[in-house]
Amino acid sequence: MGWYHSHPFDVGPHSNAFLSATDVSTQLLWQISEDAAGNPWLALVVDPLRGVAKGKPEIGAFRCYPTNYTPPKGLAPDGVSWDDERARNARWGESCISYHQLVRRRACGLVAADGRRVCRAGQQTTLNSFAPR
Ligand SMILES: [Zn+2]
Repeated sequence: MGWYHSHPFDVGPHSNAFLSATDVSTQLLWQISEDAAGNPWLALVVDPLRGVAKGKPEIGAFRCYPTNYTPPKGLAPDGVSWDDERARNARWGESCISYHQLVRRRACGLVAADGRRVCRAGQQTTLNSFAPR
């Protein structure tokens, strides 16, 4: 379950598939309420103009961290650590310490950018048990 929207911003040096501060607030509200009901909630963001320019879909899938969790300093939503936090924030938005990206690594299923599997087709899972390593 989840929601999607687009960021039809000008094509620049990086993707516009990220969560803004408003997106993080929206996602957290849904995530808290739907996860508790057994419906793990994710956010999809489409960058349509970049997708057209590059000739392939440009889509990001995201989940927010629990509000009591702070990721390691410099960490980006895709699991990459940046020395330059301003550059990281330019790519991922000012709220990038509040969420992480989900990546598709198999024919069906999603894993967190750092390799933890968070859901799999046909498997009911709750994401409340997110535990930072
Ligand atoms: Zn947005």
